[in-house]
Amino acid sequence: MAAPPAASTRSTDEELRGVEETSCCIVGGGPAGTMLSLLLARRGIPVTLLEMHKDFDREFRGDTIHPSTLEILDQIGLADKLHEIPHTKISGPSIRFADGLFRPFDLGRLKTRFPYILLVPQVRFLEFITHEAARYPCFKLVMHANVTQLLKDNGTVHGIRYLAPDGVHEIRSPLAVAADGRFSTLRRLAGFEPVKTSPPMDVLWFRLPKLPGEPEIVGGAFGGIGGGRIFILLERNDYWQAGLVFPKGQYQQLHSAGVESVRKSIARIEPRFAPHADSLTEWHQLTLLSVESSRCPLWHRPGLLLIGDAAHVMSPVGGVGINYAIQDAVVAANVLSHGLEAGRVSDADLAEVQRQREWPTRVIQAAQSFLQRRIIAGALNTPQAANVPWQLRLFAKIPIVRDIPPRLIAFGPRRVRLKEV
Ligand SMILES: Cc1cc2nc3c(=O)[nH]c(=O)nc-3n(C[C@H](O)[C@H](O)[C@H](O)COP(=O)(O)OP(=O)(O)OC[C@H]3O[C@@H](n4cnc5c(N)ncnc54)[C@H](O)[C@@H]3O)c2cc1C
Repeated sequence: MAAPPAASTRSTDEELRGVEETSCCIVGGGPAGTMLSLLLARRGIPVTLLEMHKDFDREFRGDTIHPSTLEILDQIGLADKLHEIPHTKISGPSIRFADGLFRPFDLGRLKTRFPYILLVPQVRFLEFITHEAARYPCFKLVMHANVTQLLKDNGTVHGIRYLAPDGVHEIRSPLAVAADGRFSTLRRLAGFEPVKTSPPMDVLWFRLPKLPGEPEIVGGAFGGIGGGRIFILLERNDYWQAGLVFPKGQYQQLHSAGVESVRKSIARIEPRFAPHADSLTEWHQLTLLSVESSRCPLWHRPGLLLIGDAAHVMSPVGGVGINYAIQDAVVAANVLSHGLEAGRVSDADLAEVQRQREWPTRVIQAAQSFLQRRIIAGALNTPQAANVPWQLRLFAKIPIVRDIPPRLIAFGPRRVRLKEV
């Protein structure tokens, strides 16, 4: 592989602790970055993955592994192994409306070996993927590596610089991949500005304990509506993963009212979980997900590709963020592997990754926006629990139509497969 040209935008005031070369430098050890690393390493492509934290164990960022990801892992012989990690499964939520329980979709009807969402702690999932990648000698993982600079020459990116505990390091490579999440540093350094829409809600996530004689939750997930809030519960092995959805802009108000107001909301919406809510005593037990939906108009420039949340932040409706990030990684591996094996990446290839991934992202974001405007906003603006919206009832009744939502949630508008296994 030809060495990339020396960088021309290097600052001279920092002393470099080391300069390395690789074929692909991936910034960000989230679902997108770890998965792309594994897929390239399997092909024998030298890849370095840089993660700014010292481990993968951080605040809750979602644990939902959808059928699309399970099928990809099955293609490379890892699905069964992933199932060895303690997990739970969701086939579809049951939602309590004023006129009774309603199941908006059921993944159980899908034609797949994995007709469910697998809930695995994200930290375990990332450790699992990087552990598998580490079987390949061409894979290198650098933790505690905060990427702060792009190396550019005439507008082409030739690598990155990162800050490690021992100082500044440089990696030169024909491709840098920005998989560094919704606040992407590389996206900013490349001068890309995502176009944002503002979904009408935010979410507080928290754990509730399991108590003796637990009520059964049909389909592994539950939603309840009331008092301008939506209460969500996901079944986990030894606790409940819970969320409280509230109108955007009300966080400060909620915070001032204190954790007691969260307990009250839960007791009002689902009295069965009032005893569980008593475990919430401190505000720091709650994690805020500031709901965002955005998409970059351009995902690449010469030598640089954006994937996952760095390219598009998904609303939590349908919990597709992790799986969309992973599908980007799979398409990037499909399109770029041959070029990377030869030590080069063309602009046309980078554009092809965006072409294949942008339209599914647009489709899902449009569907999420529809649900947010027509159904969620209505629930958040009404103090009393409403009846099942007619659009949902209609969807659930028509046989061909009722399978569209579970298919979209499970796979997106197009099933992504790994090209060469
Ligand atoms: C509270 C919360 C709950 C969520 N719940 C769900 C859910 O239930 N289901 C779902 O599908 N999605 C959920 N999401 C969204 C989901 O987490 C993201 O869509 C998904 O993680 C995106 O993957 P990614 O790899 O693109 O980015 P990320 O997972 O954000 O990973 C980016 C990585 O880059 C690292 N990084 C950032 N900057 C640098 C740098 N300069 N140098 C080196 N490393 C860097 C970060 O530390 C991070 O590890 C949730 C998000 C939040 C915040």
